[in-house]
Amino acid sequence: MAKRCYFDWAATAIPDVKVSKVPWGNPSSLYHEGRLAKNALEHARTRCAAALNVSPDRLYFCAGATEANGIVLSSFLLRPSHAPMLYSAVEHSSIRENGALLARLGKQMSPITVGYDGRVSRADLAHAFEKNPHARFAALMAVNNEVGSIMDMQDLTDYIRKEPGAPVHIHSDLVQAVGKIPLDITGWDLDSAVISAHKIGGPRGIGLLYLKKPLEAFLRGGGQERGIRPGTENTAGALALAECLERRMNPETFHHTFEQASERCARLIDFLKTLPRCRLIPEDRQPQDSRFSPYIIQAAFDDIPGEVLVRALDDAGIAVSTGSACSVGTQDRPVLTAMGLDTRIRLEGIRISQGWSTTMEDIDRLCSAVVDQFQFL
Ligand code: PMP
Repeated sequence: MAKRCYFDWAATAIPDVKVSKVPWGNPSSLYHEGRLAKNALEHARTRCAAALNVSPDRLYFCAGATEANGIVLSSFLLRPSHAPMLYSAVEHSSIRENGALLARLGKQMSPITVGYDGRVSRADLAHAFEKNPHARFAALMAVNNEVGSIMDMQDLTDYIRKEPGAPVHIHSDLVQAVGKIPLDITGWDLDSAVISAHKIGGPRGIGLLYLKKPLEAFLRGGGQERGIRPGTENTAGALALAECLERRMNPETFHHTFEQASERCARLIDFLKTLPRCRLIPEDRQPQDSRFSPYIIQAAFDDIPGEVLVRALDDAGIAVSTGSACSVGTQDRPVLTAMGLDTRIRLEGIRISQGWSTTMEDIDRLCSAVVDQFQFL
């Protein structure tokens, strides 16, 4: 079989971290084997904290970003407040679906509209707070997982902090931002944030929840992770997450990796712009465009359903996706709907996402495969 080219890094990255010699004891056990595991876990936490420039006591290991988003949202079920809760209309399904559940259970959930470019502007935020002046929660993802739109987190969080009244809990899904674009959990003054290891080269089933202050978790059990995420800790996963965070956040390589990804992204966008049947989403996306992560591109091809193109490219050895892996099986594209795109374009959209080991040759192969497919589709 010819070499495969992988362009679905936003769904999961090609793993490049494995840890060996992991202490196997249960970190809660008081004897030697348990203490070894506990020390390893705390060492992993300290390393993650250093990579993210936050205090280790604000980090909680959990089973991934879906769970971490759920822990934050479901904790509001235990708060008597009826204050409205805001979330950007392009959030991941783990925010949207938990939000729908909270709404069913009586919380007032209100989406923050986004522009045609999938970004929340200060005006969108102002509008949401005008409509919901008593809102005390806002979920704002840093980078959207389908179109790559980057939110101006500093500007948006500064705006929220100036809102009169009781402080707003600001939650941010950092899954597609970590290791990809510069981020500043402390500078953005986030109350909570989530990270997933398998998007940055680590294994599935491990992630991090950052909490400025502890919350009361809905999930109950043995009290591990200071009661925020009960359940026996995944020591191997925690060590792997620490390792890949250190690699991806390394200040000496971060900039260079980003520059190279930007060059590859520009080459692909320049090519897509030459195809009369292709429209970038949004249409005015530029080869070098600071509004978007260079790691994620969304494009639609006239009269070719996204699913058909995904299968045809797969046959040609290339992996791309329609939308998010977390909404496979649904025809629904809530992110594209929120951006105001019509049904036809929503069905034609495909996501091309690259990673740190993607090469220019991979981009060229993708471009020629797209041209080849056009002869048949
Ligand atoms: N948030 C975003 C933005 C994502 O892209 C994903 C993965 N599709 C998740 C959350 C869920 O992460 P996990 O697979 O760790 O549950």
